[in-house]
Amino acid sequence: MRFSRMGAIASAVVLTAALTACGSSEKTADKQASAGDTKGALIGVTMPTKSSERWISDGDNLKKQLEALGYQVDLQYAENDIPTQTQQLDNQITKGAKLLIIASIDGTAITTQLENAKANKIPVIAYDRLIRNSPNVDYYATFDNFKVGVQQATSLLTGLKVLNADGSKGSAKGPFNIELFAGSPDDNNATFFFNGAMSILKPYIDNKTLTVKSGQTDFKTVAILRWDPATAQKRMEDLLTSTYKGGAKVDGVLSPYDGLSIGILSALKSNGYGTSAQKYPVVTGQDAELASVKSIIAGEQYSTIYKDTRELAKTTVTMADAVLKGQTPQVNNTTDYDNGNKVVPSMLLQSVIVDKTNYQKVLVDGGYYTQAQLG
Ligand code: BGC
Repeated sequence: MRFSRMGAIASAVVLTAALTACGSSEKTADKQASAGDTKGALIGVTMPTKSSERWISDGDNLKKQLEALGYQVDLQYAENDIPTQTQQLDNQITKGAKLLIIASIDGTAITTQLENAKANKIPVIAYDRLIRNSPNVDYYATFDNFKVGVQQATSLLTGLKVLNADGSKGSAKGPFNIELFAGSPDDNNATFFFNGAMSILKPYIDNKTLTVKSGQTDFKTVAILRWDPATAQKRMEDLLTSTYKGGAKVDGVLSPYDGLSIGILSALKSNGYGTSAQKYPVVTGQDAELASVKSIIAGEQYSTIYKDTRELAKTTVTMADAVLKGQTPQVNNTTDYDNGNKVVPSMLLQSVIVDKTNYQKVLVDGGYYTQAQLG
């Protein structure tokens, strides 16, 4: 699976290079302000929420790097409230923004704002999350979201010792009880993460190494609206009551985001897990948020998926700068991100599985956190 996808990505790179060489992405160049007009131009950046650290870092990194290139930046957070985000976009258009970088809350809820942007010749870059059902999205900068799911599931299997760290068959045979969680149904990424994870887990469910004891395996049932930790905590508590009261234990939880993992762990804790007699199950995560990295070090959460938001900001800033200068930005995927209206040319970055064995090397040596921050 992984290798054929890599193949597809490699072909997309070649294809993109070929298209670029023939200058066939002329549309972008047409609609941008000509080079020279862009000095000091205002760029609108909208982020979903400050309730998760990653978006704070994303916003800060984007602002800093855009300002270093001489742009002005209007950075807004919407606390996961859709009307707030649409209003922020309206304001940025009114203020004369020359480009919009948008990490949407609901990828389908900003169509009117995008029509308005188009009418004003304002290019749009979808940041991290795909904007859906609109032709008015020019580019997309994100991580390989399917692969993030593959990594989460792989790490779950490694934690259960069904696999060894090198991917070879591990010592454990199961059967193991697991439960599945997915992200917000209005966030396109959530489906990619879940599908990526299920591509790995399904064969193990089919051959009974893993049992989803609650029987809840479809995306809609396991999705957590707005990625809300309290909702995940409540669902885990409900699962423990409905499915595990008879003495069966949870061995693993597929959690797609660190905030949810914290909620899930606290539901487990209040049900007697996290002691030497009853260890926590293997719980995955995403974003390498500080609290979760500390939890990994403390032996609670098993793993997270590290996405270097500095790199995503850098990629996006390079893209924005190219678009504003009438150039064609580099992309590496022109196949996977169909937004329901068109395939949005995308730049996908790579993520890394982080657990107790490599957090030091990846996060501390990599300069993402200092040793002091990790306590
Ligand atoms: C991002 C994840 C993040 C989640 C919750 C997703 O769109 O890609 O990195 O964990 O939103 O904020």
